[in-house]
Amino acid sequence: KQLFNVEAIRADFPILNRKVNGQPLVYFDNAATSQTPQQVIDCIVDYYSNYNANIHRGVHSLSQIATDAYEKARQKVQQHFNAKHAHEIILTSGTTHSINLVANGYAKFITEEDEILVSAMEHHSNIVPWQMLCEKTGAKLKVIPMNENGMLEIDQFEAMLTNKTKLVFVNHVSNALGSINPIKHIIAKTHEVGAKILVDGAQAAPHLKADVQDLDVDYYTVSAHKICGPTGVGMLYGKEALLEELPPYQGGGEMIAEVTFEKTTYAGLPHKFEAGTPNIAGGIAFGEALDYMNTIGFDVIAAYEHELLDYATAQLNTIEGVRIFGAKPEQKTAVISFNIEGIHPYDMGTLLDKMGIAVRTGHHCAQPIMNFYKIPGTVRASFSFYNTKTEIDRFVEGVKKAKSMLL
Ligand code: PMP
Repeated sequence: KQLFNVEAIRADFPILNRKVNGQPLVYFDNAATSQTPQQVIDCIVDYYSNYNANIHRGVHSLSQIATDAYEKARQKVQQHFNAKHAHEIILTSGTTHSINLVANGYAKFITEEDEILVSAMEHHSNIVPWQMLCEKTGAKLKVIPMNENGMLEIDQFEAMLTNKTKLVFVNHVSNALGSINPIKHIIAKTHEVGAKILVDGAQAAPHLKADVQDLDVDYYTVSAHKICGPTGVGMLYGKEALLEELPPYQGGGEMIAEVTFEKTTYAGLPHKFEAGTPNIAGGIAFGEALDYMNTIGFDVIAAYEHELLDYATAQLNTIEGVRIFGAKPEQKTAVISFNIEGIHPYDMGTLLDKMGIAVRTGHHCAQPIMNFYKIPGTVRASFSFYNTKTEIDRFVEGVKKAKSMLL
């Protein structure tokens, strides 16, 4: 049964018509970045063609129009993630920026007595900033272990929580494996010991809609480029009271109330964290991208992507020597991280590229996961709602052909 008209959806994405290395493109690297629908491209063109102006400062009409559009986008992001207030949405350059903003601010509150917990399946961008914070403060970084099934060891996590725990960091969905973490439970347990939690939602956002109030999460981060938006823009959600006490990350224009050489006072939320001219077109297009995906509907997207995932898993498993890493299909988003015995992932990726098939190969910025499985990396095929079973057939044929060439 067809959940929606995928061909009509595909017509919105001009890039899907192109060829790569002489073959029609099969784009299965959606976890790295998603493709951009014409509606979002038009939104960016419209901004630069019709109302390009700096925001929050001009009294002139164009500046007002641009400011209104930017603030409207912030409200769309607020509504999408169900934040209580629009000023709890900080528009950043992406997940990496959002995490660094929080990590930097916590230097003020963390001492060498404290412990910070980070999961074993994090992207480097949710590991390195906390290591830097620990270096600065002397706090101890502890790792929540994962198991062979690509899931976190929740019992061990609970045993690690003490009154020394100040911060916990986990991703909602792992980028390398697609595992969906039980974050509502993790958040509740974290709060029981009085610690705060940041959830990296970069890989969850393309597949499911997080409700920050229902989750009761303290901080939640997203990159627009993984949800049909442009690169260089994203969000940090933070609870109002926490953002109020967090010091600003960067100083500059737009983030001040008053500046003298003796003392500067900061602007209120969200501007305190938005120094300098932001990616204005990008922010507006982020809102448009959410509109686009919500028009299709996240329930429909998730159901269709799971059909693709089940189909691709079954097809790949018919190939001898295939090993799929991580969680079972029902515990993950539409990602397959795999290897074929005796073949280096890089060689597989290179041959697939010659056939017009784009997958990611390597450690996926999650080297600890690769160390856990004792492998140099994997081939990662990640699906989006604009992919098709026909593309999966071409991919599986491609893997078979590459295998016969390499072995
Ligand atoms: N966290 C996760 C889970 C990711 O998948 C990514 C992007 N690969 C990031 C963080 C970093 O996102 P960005 O590069 O957009 O800052």
